[in-house]
Amino acid sequence: MNAQTSKTGGDPIVRLDKVNKHFGSLHVLKDIDLEVTPGEVVVIIGASGSGKSTLIRCINGLEEFQQGELVVDGNPLKPHGKATQALQKIRTEVGMVFQQFNLFPHLSVLDNVTLAPMRVRGLNRATAVETAERLLERVGIADQAHKYPTQLSGGQQQRVALARALAMEPRLMLFDEPTSALDPEMIGEVLDAMRELANEGMTMLVVTHEMGFAREVADRVIFIHKGEIAEEGPPETIFDAPREEPTRQFLSRVL
Ligand code: ADP
Ligand code: MG
Repeated sequence: MNAQTSKTGGDPIVRLDKVNKHFGSLHVLKDIDLEVTPGEVVVIIGASGSGKSTLIRCINGLEEFQQGELVVDGNPLKPHGKATQALQKIRTEVGMVFQQFNLFPHLSVLDNVTLAPMRVRGLNRATAVETAERLLERVGIADQAHKYPTQLSGGQQQRVALARALAMEPRLMLFDEPTSALDPEMIGEVLDAMRELANEGMTMLVVTHEMGFAREVADRVIFIHKGEIAEEGPPETIFDAPREEPTRQFLSRVL
């Protein structure tokens, strides 16, 4: 009995059907088929340059793609899609945490977290502050609310970035190497916050090189090789019994 059947289900929240993406003559994503069901935690692994970030960025409309179908929470994104209504909706329903924290440097931690809910969702300040304080508490930095990003460690900044994304009450969270820019001693605190979020049932798509996290938290691991999904399966299978040669070679380099 695997985790997927017990914990997840329903219509996919993300569905890609034969998605292709080119940067000029470079074919970066090749016939990507992918479904993520509500509550599922999918970890994407693969070598540098294999297309992981591009895939994540297509899913929240930061990059356009040229062929295929991509539906996020019922919103269809079109090939060559420009600023459509679906795109606007996706931006408010999907949370994203990047390698670089991308906090607003001139705003306090609290204001970083309240900004989008007030501007985009129209929350009043009192409600937005209440939510922000609860989320900062949840990621363990309630006491830093009135500091500015540069006064925090990298691990603290990344937890603020997580709280900021959660403040929009996303239906889906995307992570692109959220711990890659952190000093080693700060990686654990960010992974802990992500693990907790996964345990609470958040649907998550995570690009990471943290194989321990992938093994422990993922319902499914996807290995991307040269723009293609070369292999996917439960973490036990991918890590302990990979079938494909590129997967074996990649894992022998990183494990
Ligand atoms: P990964 O995240 O797996 O390291 P990326 O998705 O960032 O890989 O990149 C995949 C490929 O696309 C790489 O060859 C990269 O150089 C190229 N690429 C990424 N972004 C751009 C861009 N904006 N313009 C041109 N090429 C790009
Ligand atoms: Mg990347």
